[in-house]
Amino acid sequence: MLASGEYVQLGSSLGRVVAPNPGPMTGSGTNTYVLTRDWKNAPVTLIDPGPAIDQHVDTLLEMFGERIESIVVTHTHSDHSPAAAPLALATGAKIYGATPAPDAAYQDATFRADFELSDDQRLEFDGVGLRAIHTPGHVNNHYCFLVEDDGIVLTGDHLMNGSTVVIIPPAGVMKDYIESLEKIKNYPVKQFGPGHGDLMDHPVEIIDWTIQHRLSREQKVIEKLTEIGRASLEELTPPVYDDVDPSLHFMASMSLWAHLIKLETEGRVANSNDVWHMLS
Ligand SMILES: [Zn+2]
Repeated sequence: MLASGEYVQLGSSLGRVVAPNPGPMTGSGTNTYVLTRDWKNAPVTLIDPGPAIDQHVDTLLEMFGERIESIVVTHTHSDHSPAAAPLALATGAKIYGATPAPDAAYQDATFRADFELSDDQRLEFDGVGLRAIHTPGHVNNHYCFLVEDDGIVLTGDHLMNGSTVVIIPPAGVMKDYIESLEKIKNYPVKQFGPGHGDLMDHPVEIIDWTIQHRLSREQKVIEKLTEIGRASLEELTPPVYDDVDPSLHFMASMSLWAHLIKLETEGRVANSNDVWHMLS
Protein backbone atom coordinates (compact mmCIF):
# COMPACT_ATOMS: atom_id res chain seq x y z
CA MET A 1 0.00 0.00 0.00
CA LEU A 2 1.52 3.34 -1.03
CA ALA A 3 1.00 6.12 1.53
CA SER A 4 -1.11 9.00 0.25
CA GLY A 5 -0.24 12.68 0.56
CA GLU A 6 3.57 12.36 0.54
CA TYR A 7 6.00 13.32 -2.21
CA VAL A 8 8.18 10.41 -3.39
CA GLN A 9 11.09 10.96 -5.83
CA LEU A 10 11.13 8.28 -8.56
CA GLY A 11 13.59 9.51 -11.17
CA SER A 12 15.75 12.52 -11.98
CA SER A 13 12.75 14.51 -13.22
CA LEU A 14 9.87 12.51 -11.79
CA GLY A 15 8.07 12.12 -8.48
CA ARG A 16 4.70 10.94 -7.23
CA VAL A 17 1.94 11.89 -4.80
CA VAL A 18 -0.76 9.25 -4.19
CA ALA A 19 -4.38 10.43 -3.90
CA PRO A 20 -6.45 9.29 -0.88
CA ASN A 21 -8.85 7.15 -2.94
CA PRO A 22 -7.81 3.53 -2.32
CA GLY A 23 -10.31 0.84 -3.36
CA PRO A 24 -10.88 -2.37 -5.31
CA MET A 25 -10.63 -0.55 -8.67
CA THR A 26 -7.97 1.99 -7.69
CA GLY A 27 -5.49 -0.08 -5.65
CA SER A 28 -3.55 2.15 -3.25
CA GLY A 29 -5.14 5.21 -4.84
CA THR A 30 -4.48 7.18 -8.03
CA ASN A 31 -0.86 8.17 -8.65
CA THR A 32 -0.43 11.85 -9.44
CA TYR A 33 2.96 12.06 -11.16
CA VAL A 34 5.08 15.17 -10.78
CA LEU A 35 7.40 16.19 -13.63
CA THR A 36 9.95 18.74 -12.43
CA ARG A 37 13.67 19.55 -12.25
CA ASP A 38 13.34 20.35 -8.54
CA TRP A 39 10.11 19.60 -6.67
CA LYS A 40 10.76 22.28 -4.04
CA ASN A 41 11.74 25.16 -6.32
CA ALA A 42 11.16 24.59 -10.04
CA PRO A 43 8.01 24.68 -12.17
CA VAL A 44 5.86 21.56 -11.91
CA THR A 45 3.78 19.57 -14.40
CA LEU A 46 1.23 17.16 -12.91
CA ILE A 47 0.34 14.02 -14.85
CA ASP A 48 -3.06 12.69 -13.75
CA PRO A 49 -4.09 15.19 -11.08
CA GLY A 50 -6.53 12.55 -9.79
CA PRO A 51 -10.01 12.73 -8.31
CA ALA A 52 -11.35 16.10 -7.14
CA ILE A 53 -11.04 15.20 -3.46
CA ASP A 54 -10.42 18.38 -1.41
CA GLN A 55 -7.68 16.73 0.66
CA HIS A 56 -5.73 15.76 -2.49
CA VAL A 57 -6.18 19.14 -4.21
CA ASP A 58 -5.11 20.92 -0.99
CA THR A 59 -2.04 18.67 -0.61
CA LEU A 60 -0.91 19.46 -4.17
CA LEU A 61 -1.53 23.18 -3.70
CA GLU A 62 0.40 23.23 -0.43
CA MET A 63 3.35 21.34 -1.98
CA PHE A 64 3.62 23.21 -5.27
CA GLY A 65 1.19 26.16 -5.28
CA GLU A 66 1.51 28.37 -8.35
CA ARG A 67 4.56 26.45 -9.55
CA ILE A 68 1.98 24.05 -11.05
CA GLU A 69 2.18 25.38 -14.62
CA SER A 70 0.84 22.43 -16.59
CA ILE A 71 -1.53 19.51 -16.03
CA VAL A 72 -1.57 16.48 -18.33
CA VAL A 73 -4.09 13.64 -18.18
CA THR A 74 -3.76 10.05 -19.42
CA HIS A 75 -7.54 9.73 -19.80
CA THR A 76 -10.79 11.10 -18.48
CA HIS A 77 -11.91 8.45 -16.00
CA SER A 78 -13.26 9.93 -12.79
CA ASP A 79 -10.26 8.83 -10.70
CA HIS A 80 -7.70 10.47 -13.05
CA SER A 81 -8.80 13.86 -14.42
CA PRO A 82 -11.37 15.73 -12.24
CA ALA A 83 -8.79 17.53 -10.05
CA ALA A 84 -7.50 19.27 -13.20
CA ALA A 85 -10.25 21.90 -13.12
CA PRO A 86 -9.87 23.09 -9.48
CA LEU A 87 -6.06 23.02 -9.72
CA ALA A 88 -6.07 25.03 -12.95
CA LEU A 89 -8.49 27.49 -11.42
CA ALA A 90 -6.25 27.97 -8.38
CA THR A 91 -2.94 28.20 -10.25
CA GLY A 92 -3.65 29.24 -13.86
CA ALA A 93 -2.07 25.97 -15.07
CA LYS A 94 -2.74 24.89 -18.65
CA ILE A 95 -4.43 21.51 -19.21
CA TYR A 96 -3.30 18.96 -21.82
CA GLY A 97 -5.57 16.04 -22.71
CA ALA A 98 -7.71 14.33 -25.34
CA THR A 99 -11.31 15.49 -25.60
CA PRO A 100 -14.16 14.95 -25.67
CA ALA A 101 -14.48 12.43 -22.87
CA PRO A 102 -16.31 9.38 -24.29
CA ASP A 103 -20.02 9.28 -23.50
CA ALA A 104 -19.65 6.29 -21.18
CA ALA A 105 -19.71 5.17 -17.55
CA TYR A 106 -17.12 6.42 -15.02
CA GLN A 107 -16.21 9.34 -17.30
CA ASP A 108 -15.39 12.88 -16.20
CA ALA A 109 -17.82 14.76 -18.45
CA THR A 110 -16.60 18.09 -17.02
CA PHE A 111 -13.09 17.66 -18.45
CA ARG A 112 -11.82 20.50 -20.67
CA ALA A 113 -8.35 20.79 -22.22
CA ASP A 114 -6.46 23.92 -23.26
CA PHE A 115 -4.28 21.82 -25.54
CA GLU A 116 -5.24 18.63 -27.40
CA LEU A 117 -2.72 15.79 -27.43
CA SER A 118 -1.70 14.00 -30.61
CA ASP A 119 0.06 10.68 -31.10
CA ASP A 120 3.88 10.73 -30.77
CA GLN A 121 3.78 14.43 -29.90
CA ARG A 122 6.83 15.70 -27.98
CA LEU A 123 5.98 18.06 -25.15
CA GLU A 124 8.61 19.95 -23.18
CA PHE A 125 8.09 21.47 -19.75
CA ASP A 126 10.91 23.54 -18.24
CA GLY A 127 13.32 21.61 -20.46
CA VAL A 128 11.98 18.18 -19.44
CA GLY A 129 10.79 16.13 -22.41
CA LEU A 130 7.54 14.17 -22.32
CA ARG A 131 6.46 12.06 -25.30
CA ALA A 132 2.70 11.47 -25.72
CA ILE A 133 1.77 8.00 -27.00
CA HIS A 134 -1.86 7.46 -28.02
CA THR A 135 -2.88 4.10 -26.50
CA PRO A 136 -6.59 3.39 -27.11
CA GLY A 137 -7.98 0.23 -25.54
CA HIS A 138 -8.84 0.85 -21.88
CA VAL A 139 -10.69 3.85 -23.31
CA ASN A 140 -10.29 5.43 -26.73
CA ASN A 141 -8.92 8.78 -25.48
CA HIS A 142 -6.11 7.18 -23.45
CA TYR A 143 -2.48 8.37 -23.66
CA CYS A 144 0.70 7.01 -22.10
CA PHE A 145 3.70 9.33 -21.61
CA LEU A 146 7.41 8.65 -21.88
CA VAL A 147 9.46 10.70 -19.40
CA GLU A 148 12.53 11.08 -21.62
CA ASP A 149 15.09 11.79 -18.87
CA ASP A 150 14.24 8.61 -16.95
CA GLY A 151 12.95 6.15 -19.58
CA ILE A 152 9.80 5.76 -17.51
CA VAL A 153 6.50 5.32 -19.37
CA LEU A 154 3.54 6.57 -17.36
CA THR A 155 0.84 4.07 -18.27
CA GLY A 156 -2.32 5.56 -16.71
CA ASP A 157 -4.79 2.68 -16.69
CA HIS A 158 -3.30 0.90 -19.70
CA LEU A 159 -1.23 -1.16 -17.26
CA MET A 160 -1.65 -1.31 -13.50
CA ASN A 161 0.59 -2.81 -10.88
CA GLY A 162 -1.17 -5.74 -9.24
CA SER A 163 -4.44 -5.94 -11.14
CA THR A 164 -5.87 -6.54 -14.59
CA VAL A 165 -7.18 -3.51 -16.46
CA VAL A 166 -10.93 -3.46 -17.07
CA ILE A 167 -12.04 -2.76 -20.64
CA ILE A 168 -15.57 -1.44 -20.91
CA PRO A 169 -17.15 -1.30 -24.40
CA PRO A 170 -17.83 0.74 -26.40
CA ALA A 171 -15.14 3.23 -25.26
CA GLY A 172 -12.88 0.29 -24.38
CA VAL A 173 -11.77 -1.95 -27.26
CA MET A 174 -9.84 -5.20 -26.69
CA LYS A 175 -8.19 -5.32 -30.13
CA ASP A 176 -6.93 -1.73 -29.70
CA TYR A 177 -5.75 -2.54 -26.17
CA ILE A 178 -3.48 -5.34 -27.40
CA GLU A 179 -2.19 -3.26 -30.35
CA SER A 180 -1.42 -0.32 -28.03
CA LEU A 181 0.64 -2.62 -25.79
CA GLU A 182 2.76 -3.62 -28.79
CA LYS A 183 3.13 0.04 -29.75
CA ILE A 184 4.74 0.97 -26.42
CA LYS A 185 7.60 -1.40 -27.28
CA ASN A 186 8.68 1.10 -29.96
CA TYR A 187 9.82 3.52 -27.26
CA PRO A 188 12.98 3.35 -25.12
CA VAL A 189 11.24 2.24 -21.93
CA LYS A 190 13.11 1.07 -18.83
CA GLN A 191 10.26 1.13 -16.31
CA PHE A 192 6.51 1.64 -16.13
CA GLY A 193 4.87 4.18 -13.86
CA PRO A 194 1.30 2.89 -13.61
CA GLY A 195 -1.71 5.02 -12.67
CA HIS A 196 -2.15 2.76 -9.64
CA GLY A 197 0.65 1.04 -7.71
CA ASP A 198 4.43 1.22 -7.64
CA LEU A 199 6.95 1.44 -10.50
CA MET A 200 7.32 -1.77 -12.55
CA ASP A 201 10.61 -3.15 -13.93
CA HIS A 202 11.06 -5.36 -17.03
CA PRO A 203 8.53 -3.52 -19.23
CA VAL A 204 8.89 -5.69 -22.32
CA GLU A 205 8.27 -8.86 -20.30
CA ILE A 206 5.22 -7.21 -18.72
CA ILE A 207 3.82 -6.34 -22.16
CA ASP A 208 4.37 -9.86 -23.47
CA TRP A 209 2.85 -11.41 -20.33
CA THR A 210 -0.18 -9.11 -20.50
CA ILE A 211 -0.87 -9.87 -24.15
CA GLN A 212 -0.50 -13.59 -23.43
CA HIS A 213 -2.85 -13.29 -20.43
CA ARG A 214 -5.50 -11.60 -22.60
CA LEU A 215 -5.16 -14.16 -25.38
CA SER A 216 -5.43 -17.08 -22.98
CA ARG A 217 -8.60 -15.52 -21.53
CA GLU A 218 -9.90 -15.20 -25.08
CA GLN A 219 -9.12 -18.89 -25.59
CA LYS A 220 -11.14 -19.68 -22.45
CA VAL A 221 -14.07 -17.63 -23.80
CA ILE A 222 -14.00 -19.75 -26.98
CA GLU A 223 -13.79 -23.02 -25.02
CA LYS A 224 -16.62 -22.18 -22.60
CA LEU A 225 -18.90 -20.78 -25.29
CA THR A 226 -18.29 -23.87 -27.45
CA GLU A 227 -19.15 -26.05 -24.44
CA ILE A 228 -22.31 -24.14 -23.45
CA GLY A 229 -23.55 -23.47 -27.00
CA ARG A 230 -25.51 -20.27 -26.44
CA ALA A 231 -25.05 -17.88 -23.54
CA SER A 232 -25.73 -14.34 -22.42
CA LEU A 233 -22.95 -12.22 -20.92
CA GLU A 234 -24.30 -12.97 -17.43
CA GLU A 235 -24.32 -16.72 -18.08
CA LEU A 236 -20.86 -16.80 -19.62
CA THR A 237 -19.07 -14.70 -16.98
CA PRO A 238 -18.88 -17.25 -14.09
CA PRO A 239 -17.35 -20.11 -16.12
CA VAL A 240 -14.90 -17.83 -17.98
CA TYR A 241 -13.84 -16.06 -14.77
CA ASP A 242 -14.01 -19.04 -12.37
CA ASP A 243 -10.52 -18.00 -11.15
CA VAL A 244 -11.73 -14.49 -10.21
CA ASP A 245 -13.51 -13.51 -6.98
CA PRO A 246 -17.30 -13.38 -7.67
CA SER A 247 -17.49 -9.86 -6.20
CA LEU A 248 -15.47 -8.71 -9.25
CA HIS A 249 -17.65 -10.55 -11.77
CA PHE A 250 -19.61 -7.50 -12.87
CA MET A 251 -16.41 -5.71 -13.90
CA ALA A 252 -15.09 -8.96 -15.39
CA SER A 253 -18.26 -9.23 -17.49
CA MET A 254 -17.34 -5.88 -19.10
CA SER A 255 -13.98 -7.31 -20.21
CA LEU A 256 -15.76 -10.47 -21.37
CA TRP A 257 -18.02 -8.27 -23.48
CA ALA A 258 -14.88 -6.63 -24.94
CA HIS A 259 -13.46 -10.08 -25.77
CA LEU A 260 -16.73 -11.10 -27.48
CA ILE A 261 -16.77 -7.92 -29.57
CA LYS A 262 -13.18 -8.63 -30.67
CA LEU A 263 -14.16 -12.19 -31.65
CA GLU A 264 -17.25 -10.84 -33.41
CA THR A 265 -15.13 -8.44 -35.54
CA GLU A 266 -12.93 -11.42 -36.39
CA GLY A 267 -16.01 -13.37 -37.55
CA ARG A 268 -15.66 -16.07 -34.88
CA VAL A 269 -18.75 -15.41 -32.74
CA ALA A 270 -22.15 -13.80 -33.28
CA ASN A 271 -25.01 -12.67 -31.08
CA SER A 272 -28.75 -12.35 -31.45
CA ASN A 273 -30.75 -10.57 -28.76
CA ASP A 274 -27.66 -10.50 -26.52
CA VAL A 275 -27.23 -14.27 -26.67
CA TRP A 276 -23.80 -15.24 -27.98
CA HIS A 277 -22.75 -18.32 -29.95
CA MET A 278 -19.71 -19.58 -31.88
CA LEU A 279 -19.59 -19.32 -35.66
CA SER A 280 -16.74 -21.73 -36.27
ZN1 LIG B 1 -9.41 4.37 -16.24
